[in-house]
Amino acid sequence: MKAAPFAYVRPGSTQDALAELGRDGAKVLAGGQSLVPVLAMRLGRPSTLVDINAVPELSRISRDHGTLRIGATVRQRQVQYDAATAAVPLLRMALPWVGHREIRSRGTVCGSIAHADPSAELPAVASCLDATMVVAGAEGVREIAAGEFFTGAMTTVIGAEELLTEVRFPIAAPGEGHGFGEFARRHGDFALAGVVVRVRTRDERVDARVSCFGVSDHPVSRDISGELQAALAAVGPTPAEPDLRRALAEHAERITSDVVDTGGDAHASTAYRRRLTAGLLAREVARAYLKSLRSAEEGTSR
Ligand SMILES: Cc1cc2nc3c(=O)[nH]c(=O)nc-3n(C[C@H](O)[C@H](O)[C@H](O)COP(=O)(O)OP(=O)(O)OC[C@H]3O[C@@H](n4cnc5c(N)ncnc54)[C@H](O)[C@@H]3O)c2cc1C
Repeated sequence: MKAAPFAYVRPGSTQDALAELGRDGAKVLAGGQSLVPVLAMRLGRPSTLVDINAVPELSRISRDHGTLRIGATVRQRQVQYDAATAAVPLLRMALPWVGHREIRSRGTVCGSIAHADPSAELPAVASCLDATMVVAGAEGVREIAAGEFFTGAMTTVIGAEELLTEVRFPIAAPGEGHGFGEFARRHGDFALAGVVVRVRTRDERVDARVSCFGVSDHPVSRDISGELQAALAAVGPTPAEPDLRRALAEHAERITSDVVDTGGDAHASTAYRRRLTAGLLAREVARAYLKSLRSAEEGTSR
C-alpha cells in the first residue's frame, strides 16, 4: 500500500515549524522510522508533513545545569556514541536495544519519546530518570516532567500544534548504578517486557527506582527503595549478586503484579509477562545496587 497524498514542508526555524504545525492535520516528521510505516499502512493520513530536519537549533547535544539536553533531530545512534552522553549511562545501555543500527541512524531520541510506544525503551529511560520534556507551541514553551508526559499508548500531552524541541536528562551523580534488561523474541524487536533501574547509594542511604515497559499502555515507574532496603536487611550491605537477586525475588513478584496490567496477546500472556518482568527486575536491581556501591567508592557513576 502507498501513503495517502500529503503536502511536505521543510521549515528552517522552530518558529516557522510551529507556524506550519498550526495547519489543520499537520504532523511532525523527524527520523520517519515510525511515521513512514504508519503512512504506508494508511493508519494515519496527515494533510502536511512538517520535516524539522533543516532546523539547526534542534540538532544539538549539550550539557547544562546538571542535565544532558538532546534536541529534536538528534539521532539515536549519535547519542549512543557521542562523548557527552556518557554522563547518562542509561541512554547508552538502552540504545543498542532500540531496533537495529539502520533504524537508529535515522530515528531520533525525541521522536521515540513523542511517539510513546508502550514497548519502547527510551520513554522508560525518560520515566526512570524523570527527564524533562521541552515542548514549544504558539503560546510559548512548556517544561513537562516525564511522570506527567505519557498518558496512554502512543499518547502524550503534546498538542497537535506543538513541537517537542528537546529532552533534558539528569546527569548521573557519583554513587549511582544503573540496570537495563529486556526480553524480545529476536534482537531488535520491540520488547515483550523490560525494566530500567536507577539505584543511588549515599552514606547509609539507598534509593531505587524502576520503570517497566511493554507491560502497560505507558512506562510505569515505582520507587522501590523500601523493597531494596528490606532485601539488603536480609543479606547484608555487600551481598553476592545471586544472593541479593534471591532476596529481591519475592518483592519483585509483588511489584510486577501491580505494574503489569497489559492483557495477554499473541506474543505472551499477562502471567508470562509478570514472571518475565519479575525476573528482569530482581536481576537488574541487584546489578544496579552493586554498581552503585562501586561508583560510590570511586566517586563516579555506572
Ligand atoms: C523495524 C523497526 C524496528 C523498531 N524497533 C524499535 C524498538 O525495538 N524499540 C523502539 O523504541 N523503537 C523501535 N522502532 C522505532 C524507532 O525507534 C523510531 O525511530 C522512533 O520510534 C521514532 O523516532 P523518529 O525520529 O523516527 O520519529 P518519526 O517516525 O519521524 O515520528 C514518530 C511520531 O512522533 C512524532 N514526532 C516525532 N518527533 C516529534 C517532535 N520533535 N515533536 C512532536 N512530535 C514528534 C511524529 O509526528 C510521529 O507521530 C523501530 C522501527 C522500525 C522501523
